[in-house]
Amino acid sequence: MAERRRRLALNDLSPWIVLVIALAITLGTGLFFWYYSRNRDELRFENAVQSAADNIVSRLDVYRATVRSAAALFAAREDVSQDAFRRYVDRLDIHNRYPGIQGIGWSERVAYLPADPIGERHSIRYLEPRDARNAAAIGFDMYAEQTRRAAMALARDSGRQVMSGRVVLVQEIIGQKQAGFLIYSPVYRGGAIPRTVQERRERLIGFTYSPFRADDLFRGIFGTERQPRVSFSVYDGAGTDAANLLHASPRARGHEPAFTTTKTLSIADRTWTVVYASEPAFEQTSASLLWLMVFMAAGTLASFWLFLFSRGQARARAEAEAASSAKSNFLAVMSHELRTPLNAIGGYVDLMELNIAGPTTEQQRNYLQRIRRAQQHLLGLINSVLNYSKLQSSAVTYHMAHHNVASLVADIEGLMLPQMQLAGLHYVNEGGPVTEVNADREKTIQILLNLLSNAIKFTNEGGSVKVGWSVDGNCVFLRVTDTGVGIAEDQLERIFDPFVQVEADLTRTRQGTGLGLAIARELARGMNGDLTVDAEPGRGSIFTLVLRR
Ligand code: ADP
Repeated sequence: MAERRRRLALNDLSPWIVLVIALAITLGTGLFFWYYSRNRDELRFENAVQSAADNIVSRLDVYRATVRSAAALFAAREDVSQDAFRRYVDRLDIHNRYPGIQGIGWSERVAYLPADPIGERHSIRYLEPRDARNAAAIGFDMYAEQTRRAAMALARDSGRQVMSGRVVLVQEIIGQKQAGFLIYSPVYRGGAIPRTVQERRERLIGFTYSPFRADDLFRGIFGTERQPRVSFSVYDGAGTDAANLLHASPRARGHEPAFTTTKTLSIADRTWTVVYASEPAFEQTSASLLWLMVFMAAGTLASFWLFLFSRGQARARAEAEAASSAKSNFLAVMSHELRTPLNAIGGYVDLMELNIAGPTTEQQRNYLQRIRRAQQHLLGLINSVLNYSKLQSSAVTYHMAHHNVASLVADIEGLMLPQMQLAGLHYVNEGGPVTEVNADREKTIQILLNLLSNAIKFTNEGGSVKVGWSVDGNCVFLRVTDTGVGIAEDQLERIFDPFVQVEADLTRTRQGTGLGLAIARELARGMNGDLTVDAEPGRGSIFTLVLRR
């Protein structure tokens, strides 16, 4: 009963368990994919940022090389004429090859005044190509302006190429003014870079340099992508002060970037701070929150569907169990009610056979015997039904104990030998190893009696019936072998179903209910064992009862 209640309780709970597990799986997979795609997107963003940074640095490297090569020209020959310089720059074809670069120039030091607070005077001599913008710069003293001076002084003292901070170029005479910067390469008298700072200051003759318009430069590097995946803002120096903004690439209006990062670049002794942000084009190619939500919603719906489905199943199961238990109860009550009058019939037959109601004739005794046989048959049938219904309603208790197998078999022999002799069968006890089984004695005997009476029933006169056993691991195999009619292969499993008999009903020659094996197998399984069969039509059958040691 307790077992039954436990099963019912589990039945009630199972849809909820299904729901919880399905929801957990949905949530788990959702989170996993979210986490996974988030990680992947971060990596993609890092890659996009890295490639943008590489682009900026490598492009500026190329530009710096043109300024350096111009310095090499002056190092080789100090008196480069304007015409020679123009031809030189013309050959570089900078407007086509190096977009963003305004030109390449030569700024000469016209005075070195160590006692003066500024100390030097410079003048732009050449700036090619000579367009209107560049013409505006000729003669300008860059050294007089603080930002340019800082870069020029550092280039002069270090002998290295130096990039200036943010400036507005003097060429900004037409159109919208852009932020800009300059790159300087120092040129010293004698061509080589002097060893000491003092010598460098004294021997400087000027700088080759290039002015850059930042917006033009960056547009030249990144082209005019209509839907860039990453936008960036370049600030001069180590911070992101708006006053130092060199260039901001176009950004989608009102877009809140999913990824942003800030990196610094170090180019020609100058630090730039670049803020990168992902753009809609980047986020469109990443696993979006929307898809995750669609997945979660679908998963949740599926979970509830599963819940409803399994609840329906559980209810159907509970109903079936209730119906089955009602049937078993009905059978138990019916059988009990039928047994009482049947026993009365048996009792009155006894009385008549004993001539208590007066003498009986030969023919009457013959009839009485038939009545008794019919009564016993019916009683057997009813007992089987009762037994089976008890098993079905799990109302059977097992008294498990250890029993010697040889003595169990000996007990059964005592009960069955007379019937064997009557049927003209040869009985053999094949024996087996000394062993015990852990079983319910009554039920084991009931099973073996059933197997033996079947063997007798289905074996013709002159045949033989054998009983023997063997041990394997924790199991004892008790075998009942006969040389009877055997069983067709397709019937081997069916015979354990209730009310199944191999011979068709109408041609039946042997009595029985078809319940014996069903009961025997239930009992064997109830004792943690099993009942199996192996048979061949016309040659006999082997039934094996498996029990635990
Ligand atoms: P019953 O013997 O009452 O008909 P069982 O459940 O004991 O019911 O057996 C079911 C069927 O299995 C039998 O009707 C018979 O066809 C087959 N069977 C059982 N034992 C044997 C056997 N030893 N040899 C051949 N057939 C058998």
